[in-house]
Amino acid sequence: MLSGIQPTADSFHLGNYLGALRQWVAMQETHQTFYCVVDLHAITVKHDPALLRRRTKVAAAQLLAMGVDPERATLFVQSHVPEHAELSWILGCLTGFGEAGRMTQFKDKSAKQGTAGTTVGLFTYPVLQAADILLYTPGPGEGAAERVLRVPVGEDQRQHLELTRTLAQRFNQRFGETFAVPEAYIPEGAAKITDLQEPTAKMSKSASSPQGIIDVLEEPGPMRKKIMRAVTDTGTEVRYDEENKAGVTNLLRIYSALAGTPVPELEERYAGSGYGQFKKDLAQLVVDTFTPIRERTHKLLDDEDQLDRILADGAARAGEAAARTMEVVRDRVGFVGRG
Ligand code: ATP
Ligand code: MG
Repeated sequence: MLSGIQPTADSFHLGNYLGALRQWVAMQETHQTFYCVVDLHAITVKHDPALLRRRTKVAAAQLLAMGVDPERATLFVQSHVPEHAELSWILGCLTGFGEAGRMTQFKDKSAKQGTAGTTVGLFTYPVLQAADILLYTPGPGEGAAERVLRVPVGEDQRQHLELTRTLAQRFNQRFGETFAVPEAYIPEGAAKITDLQEPTAKMSKSASSPQGIIDVLEEPGPMRKKIMRAVTDTGTEVRYDEENKAGVTNLLRIYSALAGTPVPELEERYAGSGYGQFKKDLAQLVVDTFTPIRERTHKLLDDEDQLDRILADGAARAGEAAARTMEVVRDRVGFVGRG
């Protein structure tokens, strides 16, 4: 299994946690896992080098603090394994211009960036993502298409995974069997979380306002405040209704995912009590979930040498797998070996 996350903010958020990272930890039990802090992706929009450096470390520390175990999972930084960029180029040469242009995330992000800020890198982002995944094909070459390669993806990444599957099949057809055709893995309990202030838009590191987003590393005070101020509606009923009560529905989803309590049970518990108590209890739940993670993250960041060692070890292991795949790829494509 392969998954990645961008170091595009000072902290991951509740959506990242419930939609992806919590499952990363669980999947270590049953899968050979590769987890990647995708710094190459983070430069597709204008960035600050010092911030990127810092955020990459904080991202890795948060993953470890959440329970990613570097003994079992291969945790690494994308730019430490240059094969990602190399394979991305090759796959880019198999991707139609129109095909890439249909990606809705590109349309959204480029609309936000404006013409001047929209880079070629932002356009080819999904191709790099395909490379990230396909590099970790278990047993690249003959028989690869039969092998299982899982990618846990939130709703927002489904279209990109579909492109990855298309590119894997296209490459295999044109040049001979090389890649596994990855499957979207929707882990049990994964939830799409929306912006607290704009409950029809997804909670996003780069697009949400500070009030709309709950950061994993946030202090309890502001965390509580944001939940108490989350947009709801003029009604009083704690009821799951995506269409008419998007705000409350989002809060119910968060509550249910964190507490492991089914939504109908929550609706019953808060029947007739209005939004206040419901939000207060939810705020406590969020604080209790993230406090230990925040504390562990800070501890990990206090020992940068240890963190660097963990990432170097991860890069070495990921690099071996990537090198194995690229050997097949270069040969298939017709590049002359170095001898
Ligand atoms: P950015 O705004 O920089 O794209 P992001 O918040 O979308 O940041 P990513 O790093 O792109 O975060 O995604 C990391 C993982 O978190 C992906 O698996 C993605 O599906 C998941 N994810 C992101 N936002 C949400 C959300 N609101 N709800 C559930 N899962 C999410
Ligand atoms: Mg994103």
